[in-house]
Amino acid sequence: MSRNTVATINLPALARNLERVRALAPNANIMAVVKADAYGHGLTRCIPALQSADLLAVATMREAREIRSVDCEIPVLLLEGVTDADELDEVNEFKLEHVVHHAAQLQWIEQSGCRSHQRIWLKLNSGMNRLGFPLEQAREVHQRIQAWPGVEEVVLMTHFACADQPGHAMNQLQRERFDQATAGLEGPHCLSNSGALINDASAHREWVRAGLMLYGVSPLDQQTGHDLGFEPVMRLDSQLIAINAVEAGESIGYGARYTAAHHHRVGVVAIGYGDGYPRNMPDGTPVLVKGQPCPLAGRVSMDMLTVDLSNQPDAALGDPVTLWGPDLPVETIAAAVDTIPYELLCRVSPRVRYEEIEYLRSKPRN
Ligand SMILES: *Cc1c(COP(=O)(O)O)cnc(C)c1O
Repeated sequence: MSRNTVATINLPALARNLERVRALAPNANIMAVVKADAYGHGLTRCIPALQSADLLAVATMREAREIRSVDCEIPVLLLEGVTDADELDEVNEFKLEHVVHHAAQLQWIEQSGCRSHQRIWLKLNSGMNRLGFPLEQAREVHQRIQAWPGVEEVVLMTHFACADQPGHAMNQLQRERFDQATAGLEGPHCLSNSGALINDASAHREWVRAGLMLYGVSPLDQQTGHDLGFEPVMRLDSQLIAINAVEAGESIGYGARYTAAHHHRVGVVAIGYGDGYPRNMPDGTPVLVKGQPCPLAGRVSMDMLTVDLSNQPDAALGDPVTLWGPDLPVETIAAAVDTIPYELLCRVSPRVRYEEIEYLRSKPRN
């Protein structure tokens, strides 16, 4: 018997989530963000379910190459653009689109003869202060790019710092600054990530960048993906490999972090930080044993974790255990360990076996 630690990827749900994004922003083109191995879901696995996306966005050349290794007609965008002049060769070879956010990139492109860039994504810094040209330079850089031979369109982009917090003053401030700096400049706008897609229809514009919500997960503190009409795409399961018991006063696991207040059974689950389940997950975090929430009891180790089985008296060896999924939101688990669901999804390790619920492509529309 092999170790049953499995991430199940629900591809039909992924396709439905993309349709849900379309319903939220019906007039926008949709960029499906598939960086970091499609947020841990498996990049090439997810592509067939994303066929109706208008563009796929990645962070690195390696991710772009991976898309180009499979049959895929969708345009691909490098969200951070090229990291050196040499990457421009690959941009051309793989017909990639790229963001331009820094003066060095302008130089590399101009020195290489500005080959075949039809659509350029110009990123402006409206207050995030990570990537992007200062707003004062928007007009000048826009003109400079438009002068490159072959450029047909310049998309004006910016990124919000607080999009996951509706009503945060930064959102309006960044939007107004961006609109002021780009007034009169030709080209579509691209501002919204998942948070802004949900919270701010005035930021939808011509292009939206949907990441986390595609995977059925919410970037907001107070609502889950399910609350917003999305379906979680990943479920992470394992099983009980031992059932033991502790007496009151006995501790469990490394550092003796957990001490039993009363006699109870202990379930040992075949998943640990070597699989991407965080080591610092606190005692009491819910884990579903055969569908019943049981509290984590003791520090997570590399290959295993332990739960108090008091809530599940029927538990037997081999029983299924769910760490997150449709019945246990990854948002809840992330909050328990003071991180965000993005991180938990991305860090599922290659040791976990991946299975998928197949996506059967519907008949092409005529
Ligand atoms: C990752 C990323 C996104 C997607 O963000 P989500 O919150 O996952 O929707 C959007 N825009 C940029 C620039 C990104 O890097």
